[in-house]
Amino acid sequence: MLRRGLTVRGFRDKLLVQFIQERAGKYTMATAMDQWDLDYLYTGFEDEAFLRDLRSLNQDGEALRTLLSDETLPEAEKLEKLVSASETLNAKLDRLNNFVSCTLATDAANAAANKADDQLMSVYTTLIPLFSGITRFVSSMKDLEGAIAGSELLSRSAFALREMKEEAEHLIPDAIEPWILEMKLSGGNAFSQLRDKLDSTVSVDYRDEKLPLSGVRGKAYDPDPLVRKDAYDAEIAAYSKIDLPMSYCLNSIKREAITLAKAKGYASVLDMTLASSRMDRETLDALWTAVREYLPDFRRYLKAKAKLLGHEGGLPFWDLFAPVGNATKTYTIEEARETLIRELGKFTPKMAAFIDNAFAQRWIDLYPRDGKTGGAFCAPVHFADRSLVMTNFQGSFSDVSTLAHELGHAWHNRCLAGLPYGLIDTPMPLAETASIFNETMLSYQVLKSCGREERLTLLESGLMESTQTVVDIYSRFLFEQEVIDTRADHAMTVEELKDAMLRAQDASYGDGLRPDARHPYMWACKSHYYSSGYNFYNFPYAFGLLFGKGVFAQYLEKGEAFVEDYCRLLRLCGSAKVADVAASVGIDVRDPDFWRSSLEVIKKDIDEFCLLAQ
Ligand SMILES: [Zn+2]
Repeated sequence: MLRRGLTVRGFRDKLLVQFIQERAGKYTMATAMDQWDLDYLYTGFEDEAFLRDLRSLNQDGEALRTLLSDETLPEAEKLEKLVSASETLNAKLDRLNNFVSCTLATDAANAAANKADDQLMSVYTTLIPLFSGITRFVSSMKDLEGAIAGSELLSRSAFALREMKEEAEHLIPDAIEPWILEMKLSGGNAFSQLRDKLDSTVSVDYRDEKLPLSGVRGKAYDPDPLVRKDAYDAEIAAYSKIDLPMSYCLNSIKREAITLAKAKGYASVLDMTLASSRMDRETLDALWTAVREYLPDFRRYLKAKAKLLGHEGGLPFWDLFAPVGNATKTYTIEEARETLIRELGKFTPKMAAFIDNAFAQRWIDLYPRDGKTGGAFCAPVHFADRSLVMTNFQGSFSDVSTLAHELGHAWHNRCLAGLPYGLIDTPMPLAETASIFNETMLSYQVLKSCGREERLTLLESGLMESTQTVVDIYSRFLFEQEVIDTRADHAMTVEELKDAMLRAQDASYGDGLRPDARHPYMWACKSHYYSSGYNFYNFPYAFGLLFGKGVFAQYLEKGEAFVEDYCRLLRLCGSAKVADVAASVGIDVRDPDFWRSSLEVIKKDIDEFCLLAQ
């Protein structure tokens, strides 16, 4: 079966990208050895193999279409042919898409890459209805189970085939599906693009300068408290220039989501998102139940940080990302490489060898340079059993941690090697398991051997991110729920949106955040609310962080015996429902107790931070 999307452009690490972009600093010079090797994909945009593969996509689509409409083949044989044609097409898309989008990620203005990207996207749009076509065929089969039992090829992809049968209940009638896809281009997708344009073009008056929003938000990490406060004031003032069109974007995207959920026969937008995340309500409820219990601990951390920065009571919003402590240890890339190999290698020597190899074979594009996009990501190159990692390394511990994170994704990709394409797409909630595990392992090991000042800094930066991923994400979930409920009745005004945001922040941050110094425009700030294809683009982050920490807690408990379980769990991520993946290593995600065990890992850090902060 065809994959749902081209993953490099997908969701992975968007939150992280935002964190890091906001901290972007000076560039260092890069040399070719620090840049990744894409030659095994194609040698260039004039490469005969590249041109041939790109040209052949239309014929491949046509062949699949002909196969789909063939009424003469016995159904099991037809399904086998569809599955193997999809596998071949996926491998070709894998290669083409990685070459084009990874070139663009480091060289945004590359004309040949932009042209190829355009061509690739337009062919891809014509392939999308084939997903539904195959799904419809699978659901129409008289004896799917018989076909699976009688074919090795089909039994390898059994989970994906059975899932298609379930999904068929929620397909839009095929006569109108192409029209809906086309209208999305001028509907939700267009509003989403407009949002990005507004965000990237508004000019912020900061002191005597005019800055982009990203520039002024980056100042939230500045060591000077006056810079942080002025930047926050400037940022809030700037939103009033764009809040009205932003509110239209948000209202329209959510209205479209409500309409689509209805058209597809889902009881709600949340149910639609849960289905695509392979998750159930019970799991989500268990997660939030535990999170609510631990909110007072996060507030304790926020108040301790406030006190450290000289505030009475809660923390003002502009100091959420303020650096704490004076530890400024920096790493060269060689030191970073050694640290990663040494500390993550303590999990298993295979991990050490894997990381060493990733550096040696130039899987990683390391440094910032002109034309390269901010942030970090890891793209799987499944057909070649490799990954492509992009970072903007500048030597901070956070940069080392980002490498650990992305190499965690790469390790996850390695665990999926050899599986059919239909089984490698990990749903959002599980996609961050290996990356969070690596980050947690790194900081756990490094914290063991560092002094008080460095410890305070490292603990705090970890807690700052956990607070974003648990507390802020909870506020975003509450906010989005309210917007969707209200939008079913009417379009929300700017004032209503601001009020709803403040209410959501109150419910999650409570007295940890100063009541008169919150952020009523977080709905305009975060792009996640404006994804036209994915709603509630928030809880998977909280799930991912806490699941990764919970898995790490299991490792601490079971030690080396857990290594094999862990790899098995990662391999299963695209081949089962979330709860079943977790159950395979004895984790019950429907039980709040599992989530409590993850939150306890964070609570220990909070306790220690509060002690050190005194
Ligand atoms: Zn990630």
